[in-house]
Amino acid sequence: MCICVNCEWVDRCKTYHAVERQHGAEHLATSPDFQGKNPRIHVIVRDLKNQTIETEWDVRSCGSYKESPGKWLRLRPGQPVPT
Ligand code: SF4
Repeated sequence: MCICVNCEWVDRCKTYHAVERQHGAEHLATSPDFQGKNPRIHVIVRDLKNQTIETEWDVRSCGSYKESPGKWLRLRPGQPVPT
């Protein structure tokens, strides 16, 4: 799971913006203005049955992580939290 969903910076973060783009997800921020320090992104590539691939990007560690439990959910109440 991407740690960003519980990070205070998620709605300003350039890295999370890139992760959203990779997932084809709606952006929290239109113009992110915060760059976290040394985010480490874990990428999983899966072969699907119909000869296509699926990629999953998750930030697993970050020097700027600032814990704010449920931050993403507070911004998008009632929506499923990205996993
Ligand atoms: S953990 Fe790092 S990459 Fe993720 S939202 Fe926070 S600052 Fe950005």
